[in-house]
Amino acid sequence: MIELRQLNKYYKVGKQRFHALKDVDLTIGDGEMVAVVGKSGAGKSTLMNIIGLVDTWDSGEYLLDGVSIRKQSDRRLARLRNEKIGFVLQDFALIEDQSVLFNVSLPLILGREKYGNIKPKALRVLEEVGLADQRNKKANQLSGGQKQRVAIAGVLAMQPQCVVLDEPTAMLDPQGRREVLDTIERLN
Ligand code: ADP
Repeated sequence: MIELRQLNKYYKVGKQRFHALKDVDLTIGDGEMVAVVGKSGAGKSTLMNIIGLVDTWDSGEYLLDGVSIRKQSDRRLARLRNEKIGFVLQDFALIEDQSVLFNVSLPLILGREKYGNIKPKALRVLEEVGLADQRNKKANQLSGGQKQRVAIAGVLAMQPQCVVLDEPTAMLDPQGRREVLDTIERLN
């Protein structure tokens, strides 16, 4: 469960302060899927980065499963980020000349998963996003929608409690967009 209470974020621009998030109150329960919409510059990415524990804020409270994030050390924050949060970005962030299976395995390898578990876990999440039959292709041989589903599979392999997607369909054509949104809805 994610709870934001009266959250404010300022950016320093020269000597000025820019008020990027103003008194944000938001509750997201377990199993909920929430879309944040708004025009460019509204603060969506800022909010995603705070929820994803990769940026700080200036006032207000963020509780993740009842734990106050404001009071955590950097070390503990890094642990929480690894354990609880999965981040999907708009540009997929895949290693293009490596296989689909390798790309999905990489988070597990970096997360020091036991060697024998890596391939079965990677194959399971590839099944979940409907791409197991593409596992030996290189990432650069896939469509945009397929690449984003591989990126989502990589995130899911880590079994995060919360998946943060920042404009996951921005780089896709209508067909890819549909594929990715269907996948996200189905998985949720
Ligand atoms: P969105 O994702 O909705 O397009 P952002 O969260 O990226 O919006 O940005 C919100 C506002 O904060 C914008 O006006 C942007 O110019 C400003 N902003 C974002 N990052 C910075 C930064 N590092 N320094 C100064 N201003 C920033």
